[in-house]
Amino acid sequence: MLLINCPWCGLRAEIEFTYGGEGGIIRPTSSENLTDQEWGEYLFMRRNVKGINHEQWRHISGCGKWFNVLRDTVTYQIKSTWKIGAEPLEQSNRNFEPNEN
Ligand SMILES: [Zn+2]
Repeated sequence: MLLINCPWCGLRAEIEFTYGGEGGIIRPTSSENLTDQEWGEYLFMRRNVKGINHEQWRHISGCGKWFNVLRDTVTYQIKSTWKIGAEPLEQSNRNFEPNEN
């Protein structure tokens, strides 16, 4: 069983969580100036990473809060979890570059 460390509740079973897609995607500040293609890329285009991926998860059966996860998509190992708006804390995160798109 995979255990996920909710930043508020601590370690819990994977069944208590739901995957929320790729993390670190920043909403454009001036969406009225975007082309349809740029807006479509923001809304729909996501990376398909083999390796360390920045994701959003929600503790749906617990506190209900969203948080960030760094997960290896090959081994399923979770490298780190942290609150939305906070900085990742672990050494392994220092070389991680969030998605710029
Ligand atoms: Zn929680």
